[in-house]
Amino acid sequence: MPEVHPNTDQVIADNREYTLFSWSVQNQTHPIHMTGGKGSYFFDADGKSWLDMASQLININVGHQHPKVLQAIKDQVDKMCFAGPSFATDVRAELGKKLSEVTGLAKSFFTLGGSEANENAMKMARLYTGRDKIITRYRSYHGATMGSMSASGDPRRWPVEPGIPGIVRVFDPYMYRPPMGMTAEQWEEGSVSHIEEVIQMEGPHTIAAILVEGITGSNGILIPPDSYYPRLRALCDKYGIVLITDEVMSGFGRTGKWLATQHYGITPDIVTCAKGLTSGYMPLGAVIVNQEIADYFENHFLSGGLTYSGHPVSLAAAIANLKVYEDENLFEHTLELGKHLGERLEAMKAKYACVGDVRYIGLFSVLELVKDKATKEPLAPFNGTSPEMGKLAAYLKSKHIYAYTRFNMIWVCPPLVITKEELDAGLDAYEEALALVD
Ligand code: PLP
Repeated sequence: MPEVHPNTDQVIADNREYTLFSWSVQNQTHPIHMTGGKGSYFFDADGKSWLDMASQLININVGHQHPKVLQAIKDQVDKMCFAGPSFATDVRAELGKKLSEVTGLAKSFFTLGGSEANENAMKMARLYTGRDKIITRYRSYHGATMGSMSASGDPRRWPVEPGIPGIVRVFDPYMYRPPMGMTAEQWEEGSVSHIEEVIQMEGPHTIAAILVEGITGSNGILIPPDSYYPRLRALCDKYGIVLITDEVMSGFGRTGKWLATQHYGITPDIVTCAKGLTSGYMPLGAVIVNQEIADYFENHFLSGGLTYSGHPVSLAAAIANLKVYEDENLFEHTLELGKHLGERLEAMKAKYACVGDVRYIGLFSVLELVKDKATKEPLAPFNGTSPEMGKLAAYLKSKHIYAYTRFNMIWVCPPLVITKEELDAGLDAYEEALALVD
C-alpha cells in the first residue's frame, strides 16, 4: 500500500542536483517521486495511488510488482547473478527456445533494450546482405542510441543529424492524414507502391533492410491497412531486402498477440523487441532472426555484444513474465478488453468535437485531437504543445491518472492486467478532461 515518504522534498532535490533526467531540459522537469506500485497503479511519496494508463513507458505489461516475476528475479539472484555473454546458461536456452516458438523465427541475440536491439538488427542486415542502406519511416521511433536515433524519423532524431549514413526515409501508413493531399483510399495503394519507387531510385542492390515499427507507437498508433504488410513482405522478397519489424512497443501482448505483425499473417526476417519482453522488471531486448540469417552467422563473424548481453537475471525475469502472459490468459483479456476500449473511444469521437480520430488495437490506442473535425487542424502543432493540451494533461494529473500525451495526441495503453472497472475509471477521467477543451 502507498505510504507517505518522510523526506520527499530532499529526495526530489537530490535527484535534480546530482542526476540528469532523460529527454528533458533539466530546469523544466517535475518528476513524481515514485515509491512502489501494485497491478495497474503506482504509488507516490505523498501516499497517493496513480492509475497507470501509460504502463510507464508502455512497457509494464503485467502491471506493477507482479509477484511471480519478482520471485523469479529473486531466485535467479540467489542461484547465479552473472555469467558472461559467451557462457551457456539454463535461462538463455529456455528463453531462446520460447522466443523461437512464439515468433516462428530461428535464433535470438540478447541486448539490454530496444535501441540496442535495433542497432544490432541494422548491423546484422548490413553484414548479411553486404548492402548499406536502411529504409525507415518518418513517423517512427527506434531508440536513442546513435544508430537507432538516426533510423528514427520523428523530431527526436534532429539533435543527432546527420546521424549514421545510409538511412532513407519513406512516408507512413497514416490513414487519417495521408501525404500529398491523397485520400485514404489512394494512400492504401500508395503507402507501399511509393516505397517501391524509392527502392528503384536508390538502387535495389544498395538496400539492406526496411525497418518499420510493427505498429507505430509513440507517433500515434498508426494502424496499417490489411494489405500493407503482405505487400511490404512481397516487396522485400522481390528485391532481397531484409524486413525488420521493431516490436519493442507493439509486441508481447500489447495488441493481443505476441507480435503485431501476426495480425497481418506475415513473418518478418528480423524482429526486435524489449519493453514487454520483461515488462520492464529487468533491462532486456532481443534481435530474433530467421533461419537464413542465423545460418549466415554460423560461419561469418557476428561483430557485436556487450558485457551484460544475456544477463541471467534479465533472462529469468523474461521467462517468468512470458509465463504470466500465458498462465493468466492476458492476451485473450487484452483482445476482449480492447473491444470495450474501442467502443468507448468511438463513443468519445462521436461525442466530442475535439476528437478527430481514434486508433486502437488490443490495449494499444490513441485519441488524436483537433480544433476542427472538418479541417483536421491539430489541437497542438506537430512537435509542439498548446494551452489546450496543457490543460488536459494537468487535469488528468490532478486526478492522479498517469497518461502519455504528445503533440495533439493522448494515448490509452494501460497494463494488460487492468480490469474493466479500472479502465472505465481512467476513461471517465479522460472524458472529463476532453470536456474541458471541447
Ligand atoms: N523502438 C520502439 C518502437 C520504441 O517505442 C522504443 C522506446 O520507446 C525503442 C525502440 C527504444 O527502446 P529502449 O528505450 O528500450 O532502448
